[in-house]
Amino acid sequence: MPTELLQLTLDELRQLAAQWGEPAYRGNQLYHALYVEHRRQFEQMTNLPLSIRQRLAGEATITLPEIAARYVSADGAIRYLLRLADGKTIETVWMPESNRQTLCLSTQAGCAVDCHFCATAQLGLLRNLTAGEIVGQVLVVLDDHRDTLRPRTNVVLMGQGEPLLNYDVTLRAVRLLADPAGMNIPLRRITLSTSGIVPGIRRLAGEVVRPKLAVSLNATTDEQRSALMPINRKYPIAELLAACRDYPLRPWERLTFEYVMLGGTNDSPEDARRLAGLIGGLRAKINLIPWNAVPDQPYRAPTEDALDTFQRLLREAGCLAFIRRSRGQDVFAACGQLALLELPAGPD
Ligand code: SF4
Repeated sequence: MPTELLQLTLDELRQLAAQWGEPAYRGNQLYHALYVEHRRQFEQMTNLPLSIRQRLAGEATITLPEIAARYVSADGAIRYLLRLADGKTIETVWMPESNRQTLCLSTQAGCAVDCHFCATAQLGLLRNLTAGEIVGQVLVVLDDHRDTLRPRTNVVLMGQGEPLLNYDVTLRAVRLLADPAGMNIPLRRITLSTSGIVPGIRRLAGEVVRPKLAVSLNATTDEQRSALMPINRKYPIAELLAACRDYPLRPWERLTFEYVMLGGTNDSPEDARRLAGLIGGLRAKINLIPWNAVPDQPYRAPTEDALDTFQRLLREAGCLAFIRRSRGQDVFAACGQLALLELPAGPD
């Protein structure tokens, strides 16, 4: 079996070089070619001697997801359908702004968590991604925009899948993304979003290299949350918030709570007051995300009035609350919409 390189850390590539009887620094050169220069072909790795390039061509592979389709939104966001080596497809969303680009990555193909407002849940879990498949999403999509890249890149682990249910692989990918000697995306620009997997949050708290944490809360009582997110029966609100209170924030860091606003379901003034009570005292911000339409779902978007009142009540209670309108809604790229939908317009 050839060795898959795209997922190996610097140390592992140095070990591989040593196993091949080469100086360990050849591993550094390979690492640089892969993650800094984005080389795909061994013959392009001209920082390595010809003999090593030839050996790599025979004994190693670099497998990147392939772009199966691009759906371009009127607001500039692009939903990529990416095909993995086994034929499964996942989604990655590209969101350009004036001085940065944000990539929303998948950590699993499909998802087992079954949040009722989320289109991905309808797919079920197809499989976990590998670290190479997570990092590969960044490499492929950045390369697709190589001539127009903005100076900063943000990454959110918020696409298909629950990152904390593919914990080791996700953290390996984060270490690769954040390595200053490699892809060099600072940890403060990487956010992991969870549906509230409490053991995963507690484990993440102990990591030296860890992304920022966002928790998808979406309700203010257990009854309401369990109806929207069955995972709440396993990890109820009190347990989830206890893990958040114990979470060791770095000096520059805040927790993020995401709250998908569903008209008539979780957007009342009482909900706003309860939410303020629940997260009071935490160094946190709340992102209010008006629900994005998904075909065949029983929810509706909140009214502008409900949204404004909700935000005002939170702010009056001393909470940092923002309204975040998801991008790419017209191409089903927005939060909760990722379900491999192929649009009639087809790939561009
Ligand atoms: S919201 Fe996230 S965790 Fe919930 S079903 Fe969708 S992808 Fe899974």
